[in-house]
Amino acid sequence: MRKQIAAANWKMNLTYQQAEELIDQILNADISLKAHQSAVFAVPFPYLIMAKSELADAKSYFVAAQNCYTKRSGAFTGEVSAEMLQSIGISYCVLGHSERREYFGEGNAMLAEKINICLSYNITPIFCCGEPLTIREAGTQNSYVEQQLKESLYHLSADQLKKIVIAYEPIWAIGTGKTATTEQAQEMHAHLRQVLSKQYGDVANEISILYGGSVKANNAKELFACPDVDGGLVGGASLIAADFIQIMRSLK
Ligand code: PEP
Repeated sequence: MRKQIAAANWKMNLTYQQAEELIDQILNADISLKAHQSAVFAVPFPYLIMAKSELADAKSYFVAAQNCYTKRSGAFTGEVSAEMLQSIGISYCVLGHSERREYFGEGNAMLAEKINICLSYNITPIFCCGEPLTIREAGTQNSYVEQQLKESLYHLSADQLKKIVIAYEPIWAIGTGKTATTEQAQEMHAHLRQVLSKQYGDVANEISILYGGSVKANNAKELFACPDVDGGLVGGASLIAADFIQIMRSLK
């Protein structure tokens, strides 16, 4: 079975003390993930080391950065490199979140570079893609998202692609409380898998494709039950211990 992942994206939320408390609450819950399931916590940079050490003994729990820069090192004030992340044992990095694309001008070509640098440091990119509302309303979401994959991923070898996690996040569903229906999610996830299989063959069946966009405790089970949905990338609901615990328990 493909790896099923509940990924928390805390964005720019929580103080250090609140972050510690949230992790403690999750660690104290009896969740018992199965071998093919994992939880990933994408926390703000200043909390990475704390989260990593708190979760050190928890099997199947991983810590992610929310971004990293394209370059190895150098005069790039304010940026964080993949090498730095690797040096503190971080194994995942969210790349191309729609907020990074919209507010920080990240495009598909830059994301291709970020993917390359993460892979070169053995960090698994969680590559986000997804269409804005105008594209969904025009009915051209399939080709829009396909283009994002083409421009950011298609330079990879099949072996490299296997190391990527994809998160399909329709922008109109992020932080809006407006979740995609299970039909919309399954349709896009199946499309992405089909597109990847045209390019890469059977490897496409090994790639975890997460759904993101107002995943909540009360809709996660239904969304994750879709055959091509392999878990979720969760914003708002990942900040509430009881909700995220429920979401983790909803993995298939
Ligand atoms: C996200 O941050 O990627 C996200 C999907 O947010 P939310 O769950 O709040 O819609």
